[in-house]
Amino acid sequence: MDPIARTLEHERIANESKHWVRLVAACNSRCLFCLDSEAQDGKILPFDDICREIRRGREEKDATRVVLSGGEASLHPRFHELIRYSKEQGYTWVQTVTNGRRYADRAYFNRVVEAGLSEITFSIHGHTAALHDHLTQAPGSFDQIVKAMIRAVRDGRVVVNADVVINKQNVDYLEKIVALCAQIGVREYDLLHVIPQGEAWEHREQLFYDVDAYSESLRRVFRLGLNPRFHVWTNRFPVSHLEGMEELIQDPHKMLDEVGGRRMQFRRYLDAAEPIDCRHTERCPHCFIEPFCSALDRRVEQLRDGDVGIWWIGSRFELASLHPEATLLGVELPAGAALPDFGRPLYLKAEDFTGLSLPPHSVAVATLPEHLAQLENQACEVEIPLDRGMAAAVLADPERLHRNADRYILHGQTWIRMEESAANSPDYQAFFPALPLPLRTRNLPACLCPGMRLEKAPRRLDQHILHDDGRLAIDPIVEEYIESEYKAKSQRCKTCVVADRCEGMQLQYLRHAGFKVLQPLTGSWATQADARLKLLQPELPRGLAKGAPPQAPVVRVPVPGNRPVPEIDVVPGRRS
Ligand code: SF4
Ligand code: SF4
Repeated sequence: MDPIARTLEHERIANESKHWVRLVAACNSRCLFCLDSEAQDGKILPFDDICREIRRGREEKDATRVVLSGGEASLHPRFHELIRYSKEQGYTWVQTVTNGRRYADRAYFNRVVEAGLSEITFSIHGHTAALHDHLTQAPGSFDQIVKAMIRAVRDGRVVVNADVVINKQNVDYLEKIVALCAQIGVREYDLLHVIPQGEAWEHREQLFYDVDAYSESLRRVFRLGLNPRFHVWTNRFPVSHLEGMEELIQDPHKMLDEVGGRRMQFRRYLDAAEPIDCRHTERCPHCFIEPFCSALDRRVEQLRDGDVGIWWIGSRFELASLHPEATLLGVELPAGAALPDFGRPLYLKAEDFTGLSLPPHSVAVATLPEHLAQLENQACEVEIPLDRGMAAAVLADPERLHRNADRYILHGQTWIRMEESAANSPDYQAFFPALPLPLRTRNLPACLCPGMRLEKAPRRLDQHILHDDGRLAIDPIVEEYIESEYKAKSQRCKTCVVADRCEGMQLQYLRHAGFKVLQPLTGSWATQADARLKLLQPELPRGLAKGAPPQAPVVRVPVPGNRPVPEIDVVPGRRS
């Protein structure tokens, strides 16, 4: 299987609908990096409540996989009944994540496997008792987990895999930990990067380490994932260290789960400007979610400041009057429909521009090659979202654009799925050098569009990220972030002259094209691009290092007909 096919297979597995259900708020270990400790009060959750939650996963999410979790799920006295109940509800796969301690007992192991358990993920963090027991703060836990793993592998009835939280204590021994698992017969590993939440932040001195300093040894372990006999997941790991093994980058859609796990906090931030309790200049730079939290801050600021370049309503024309202050009204004209007179400049997508008369100062979006001819005699600007078809159309007749170069804007298009990005993205390294003259260009790092006239894309507000009462909708914001703002840079970017002002390239693109396409600027292009970006963005992006993160007041823009805020966002315990 080639790397892209393998990545797509990873993506398919990672995106299978899984329903996580908490059985207990208790654990028999006390891991130094526990993310769940704040939720643990020792409670065993009522059997009927858990059954209801198990059913909800089938009914509302149509999930076929359920993960029975805790705390430590095996502490629930009716664990085996809950496994059987999950199967009866139609789940085809029942997984648990465990510290493995109870599974050391043969009778216990047999009882849960006979009940229908499909997969056990063992959390092992050391290759010796001294290391593992120190990290779990549970003497004897290493012997128990190793015994349980050997039993589960030999038994053969369940899929067995391991997760390891990489931290300062064990990063030197990661190869040994993986070797121990391989010796036992485990071939699938989830290597998790420690994040500044829960107990992990309390024990930060012991746990956080300089990833750059360990990059090479970490890459040696990750490289095992390129061997088809092994399966390595790099959960929450800084992606710039995965150059050359991009297929190991976790699917950006995982961000939905990460944000989902904290959605009540995000909800309170968005609704009531209540600070997120972990938002802190020392803490956030260690966090995998940080770029999203910063994007969310920018989104809140945008609403507060009314900074809307495009109010995108698509074909919902009845929403046209909602953002009168937006520079452009974003409209999608259905095939054959007449263009209403909105009385303001448009950002217009249409299947056919023939005979359409756009208001002054409008922008037409040319998504098909024939649009270029249809728009040639219009007075409007023309944005060209670059895909392979449009790149070929531009190169077929570059003179058409150069005759009136100020009108045309090349836009680096992005796709939410890697598969779409791989199928549609143009070869930028061939495209831009083939253009005889510079053109206005947006949404690409300077190294991918050398010599072009760099511009900033207008800020867009899409009606679908708002609820009916005007509150921001969490999942659509995350999806929009994945599609257009989730970007990454190479380690090499540190040496690039524009590094401070460049966000890098969209991650889905880098997953198939590789970080190798990002090359620090050199020569006169470095000087030009640096000067241009300083002009476009005089202030450096507001980083956490500069002080307290922005906490904006609440601004609501009700959108009649949109979805109300879902219960899982506001009712505690609705999401496990
Ligand atoms: S980046 Fe976001 S989730 Fe992470 S620690 Fe900071 S505020 Fe919390
Ligand atoms: S910082 Fe990196 S991504 Fe940005 S222009 Fe330079 S090399 Fe390219």
